[in-house]
Amino acid sequence: MKAVQYRKVGSRPEVVEIPVPEPGPGQVLLRVEAAGVCHSDFTVMSWPAEGFPYPLPLTLGHEGAGTVAAVGRGVTAVAEGEQVAVYGPWGCGGCRQCATGMENYCTRTAELGVVAPGLGAPGAMAEYMVVDDPRHLAPLDGLDPVVAAPLTDAGLTPYHAISRSLPKLVAGSTAVVIGVGGLGHLGVQLLRALTPARIVAIDLAEEPLELARRVGAHEVLRSDEHAARRVRELTGGRGAELVVDFVGAEPTVRTAAECVGIAGDVTLVGVGEGRLPVAFGAVPFGVSVAAPCWGGRAELLDVLALGRSGAISVHTETFPLEQAPEVYERLHHGDITGRAVLVP
Ligand code: NAD
Ligand code: ZN
Repeated sequence: MKAVQYRKVGSRPEVVEIPVPEPGPGQVLLRVEAAGVCHSDFTVMSWPAEGFPYPLPLTLGHEGAGTVAAVGRGVTAVAEGEQVAVYGPWGCGGCRQCATGMENYCTRTAELGVVAPGLGAPGAMAEYMVVDDPRHLAPLDGLDPVVAAPLTDAGLTPYHAISRSLPKLVAGSTAVVIGVGGLGHLGVQLLRALTPARIVAIDLAEEPLELARRVGAHEVLRSDEHAARRVRELTGGRGAELVVDFVGAEPTVRTAAECVGIAGDVTLVGVGEGRLPVAFGAVPFGVSVAAPCWGGRAELLDVLALGRSGAISVHTETFPLEQAPEVYERLHHGDITGRAVLVP
């Protein structure tokens, strides 16, 4: 089968031919119908050889959806032919975090060597993939796999990221979304679907800002040194109740700190190099800063339900698996609007 692999540190991803895997006891084999292309992969592929955390070659893709092709011995929760999305942040299943469904915060992954698909384990950018346990599958129930795949990360991560701030996002409040790419364009829609807050979207380019407007942002701003002041003006000087930074670079983290209001939330999702100094007096009184990772299993079911109901819609550009290397290049150059999805 064809697979997109990162084979050597510093090289470009390649499309290669590898054997179709077989599901072991308790595992599930999926015929992949869609695999989302996340900016995080680019970060992984920029890490140096020294200390590189995953064995290579690595089949990429941590956003997957498809049809169950075969089940391993003992699997009863799903059956051949069912369409499913893959919950990616695999945990041990037994620690307290995992017991609540928040496997993204599993406390035993390092100790047990549990890794996520596409981020250590063979991922979704292939014709087939093995899922370690049926609990890591969510039924599509009619949702298009091309829509479902991005929802497993580009939808789930913003959903989890904004969840802690929902009580603050009352009528008259303001939520700022920085970076309206794969995650950000769903972040805007989730805020719109779940809160009455006014949404301000910030990005560098016209296309993402246009998309932001189309999917529900009330105001859009260019990302520059004036953005924070504009947010203050829009909020009568108060600042925003929530700033979610889907970039995490030095300038965006600074903007976030400058436009959050008293007792507001700054939530850093993007994995740029930006650092936010947090100390008494360095941010407005009562500001809370979080750096969440991905989301929980129940949250994925919520996000898929929102997709099914039409409350959120994924803006996708689809490509054949073979084009993965150039799709990554385009993503890196800001040349994808919404989410790129590979269709094997
Ligand atoms: P993307 O490339 O689809 O979108 C990024 C967007 O940010 C683009 O629209 C781009 O124009 C915009 N942007 C870039 N620099 C900017 C700046 N200085 N100011 C304003 N906007 C700017 O990326 P994505 O796949 O949506 O991922 C977004 C970030 O989230 C990445 O850093 C990714 O690694 C990270 N991520 C984090 C988690 C997590 O769990 N914390 C999960 C998935 C992705
Ligand atoms: Zn665990």
